[in-house]
Amino acid sequence: MEKKGTLEINSISLEALERDFVEMEIPKYRAAQVFRWIHKYAAASFSDLKNIPGTLQTAPAAHFYISELTPMAERTSADGTVKYLFGLFDGQTVETVLIPEEDRVTVCVSTQVGCAMGCSFCATGHAGFVRNLSSGEIAKQVEYINKSSQVTNIVFMGMGEPLLNYGAVIGAIRLLNCEAGIGLGLRRFTISTCGIVPRIYQLADEQGQVGLAVSLHAADDQKRRQIMPIAEKYPLEELMAACRYHVRKTRRRITFEYVLIADFNDGLDDAAVLARLLAGLNCHVNLIPVNPVGGTCQRPDSKVVQCFARYLSQHSIPTTIRRERGLDIEAACGQLKQAAREVAHENTRSD
Ligand code: SF4
Repeated sequence: MEKKGTLEINSISLEALERDFVEMEIPKYRAAQVFRWIHKYAAASFSDLKNIPGTLQTAPAAHFYISELTPMAERTSADGTVKYLFGLFDGQTVETVLIPEEDRVTVCVSTQVGCAMGCSFCATGHAGFVRNLSSGEIAKQVEYINKSSQVTNIVFMGMGEPLLNYGAVIGAIRLLNCEAGIGLGLRRFTISTCGIVPRIYQLADEQGQVGLAVSLHAADDQKRRQIMPIAEKYPLEELMAACRYHVRKTRRRITFEYVLIADFNDGLDDAAVLARLLAGLNCHVNLIPVNPVGGTCQRPDSKVVQCFARYLSQHSIPTTIRRERGLDIEAACGQLKQAAREVAHENTRSD
């Protein structure tokens, strides 16, 4: 069995790995070779590093270990969407979804095991929070899939609230952006949040090229609090101020996700409040007919959804109704996996 070090090599940047290699008296250029095996080819073991001499595999293996991400299940939808279940080193599991299309391949990744946010319509929220994923564990979801399908877009929209694992998410973006690995452009990434206000400001200041999607789901505080506990902490006035700041600072269009729940937030009066809230903002709305969780809410009739969308469009709010993807494989974990497709379209358009 391979000897294991104590540092997770998948989470280490190329620059830090080069420094470590120099300290270990391994030629610096070997770091880029190892980084490539880890991130471009998703190596599972140091013995997989084919162009690295065996003697040079032993030293890294004594210091580092490679993140475990074991494919446990894979389900392919009739529309080509694939849902993966990956096992982690501690027996926990995460889901990742691949959404292939003619001109792009989007991966929807998880950032936490479970989620503490408790949104009422979300299966992940019902299960509660277990732990954060490391940068390496987040990046490896993409790297595993990239071995067979060349990935073009990433959305942080799977299990977990990405902005509550900010450092690891930004670390994963840097790993995936690095030319020695997959080398994906920063504008190909979108972070989806339920509205962690201070981190939205931080993202605008530090990561201007990364796209932002905000789960709104109701345009008044009272209704939003009923389905999203985070709304108690960050009311809409604060959330929208952060969103406006993000748009001003990054000059990028922001996406708002809006889950439509029958007889709760799907009326034309709700659409009117939403249109007023978003008036004048460079944004786009994704409408998502709810995928009922535990019979607590119902999906609106398609005519109601069309009316809601039409109202927004007539009031100059660019709006898309979610095209269902992967329903037959229950790919809508966290309710928002299908949002990945529209968000990827948005960001490809604004490249
Ligand atoms: S919708 Fe997102 S933020 Fe809300 S509980 Fe589910 S995973 Fe967490």
